[in-house]
Amino acid sequence: MGLVDLRSDTVTSPTAGMRQAMADAVVGDDVYGEDPTVNALETRVAALLGHEAGLFVPTGSMGNQLGVRLLVPPGTELLCDELAHVVRAELGAHAALGGVTTRTWRAPRGRLDPGAVSALAAPDAGPYLVSTSAIAVEDTHNFGGGTVQDLGAMRALRAYADANGLALHLDGARLWNAHVRTGVPLDAYGSTADTVSVCLSKGLGAPVGSVLVGPSDLVGEARVWRKRYGGGMRQVGILAAAGQYALDHHVERLADDHERARRFAQACAEVAPGVVDPLTVDTNIVLLDVGAVGLAASDVVSAFADRGVRTYAVGPTAVRAVWHLDVDDAATSAAVDAARAVLAGG
Ligand SMILES: *Cc1c(COP(=O)(O)O)cnc(C)c1O
Repeated sequence: MGLVDLRSDTVTSPTAGMRQAMADAVVGDDVYGEDPTVNALETRVAALLGHEAGLFVPTGSMGNQLGVRLLVPPGTELLCDELAHVVRAELGAHAALGGVTTRTWRAPRGRLDPGAVSALAAPDAGPYLVSTSAIAVEDTHNFGGGTVQDLGAMRALRAYADANGLALHLDGARLWNAHVRTGVPLDAYGSTADTVSVCLSKGLGAPVGSVLVGPSDLVGEARVWRKRYGGGMRQVGILAAAGQYALDHHVERLADDHERARRFAQACAEVAPGVVDPLTVDTNIVLLDVGAVGLAASDVVSAFADRGVRTYAVGPTAVRAVWHLDVDDAATSAAVDAARAVLAGG
């Protein structure tokens, strides 16, 4: 067994079939709107998510930045939960580049509670306080542990936003995982938001790429801002082809990742009760609270590494393990064996 890399689902290598699709891609200059493979991918993803138009962007961070900056005028605020990728993992880009301020609500496991959002929101706050312009929701929730958002909660938030003139951005980096887990159609999730960003480079296994979808006029503006940010790409159909291939072949198989993540969590809970409740493992991400057995995250990460399993410390006592295309049943068994050894000492 080689190294089992559970740090993130971004670590996958393109498969042989994907590489062939990339090699065969028909391309053109996408800054002139002439790359047929990119155009087809944008149209396809927009339709899947129930939106008018799509824009291929290099990263999910750029997709989020473009969506948010179009919904939040400079000097007004975006609300999101305190664990959200947009406030924790985008290096302050929304403030540094977009003039956006943020306030956050608490969200155990990243679960959306529309009541917590409406308690925080300040639409039309007048001349002395910051006004809220938009709300960001993350589905599935990365630092929450792969949590799937409840569609009813998302719809309730949409109704609240409509009634108060607020916009909604959905960070759907792993929306595919939510869809596969629940069977809720992608467009049911997608239509709760004004703009949605989805990643092709996580569990879907493409090397690069995300798509931002929304109404045609907003996506047209996003295209201008993408160019300003230096994200106008030329014969990029070679990457869009990887995304198309991933949508054809790698969506339904996400169920295997979910199953393997659950199996790993069950093994951890057996040897070290309290580190994780397997019932909270909705999708492909397992968050271990190793503080529950008196261990530090950094020690657990190095003990796993000594056994050929790479994990990631996301907090002083929080260790993350993520399943993806390059972790099969045998690799999962190796990770389970490592967990028994590492956590038994705790
Ligand atoms: C990975 C991720 C993104 C985008 O990340 P990039 O590395 O910029 O592609 C956005 N939101 C969430 C929740 C993510 O997990």
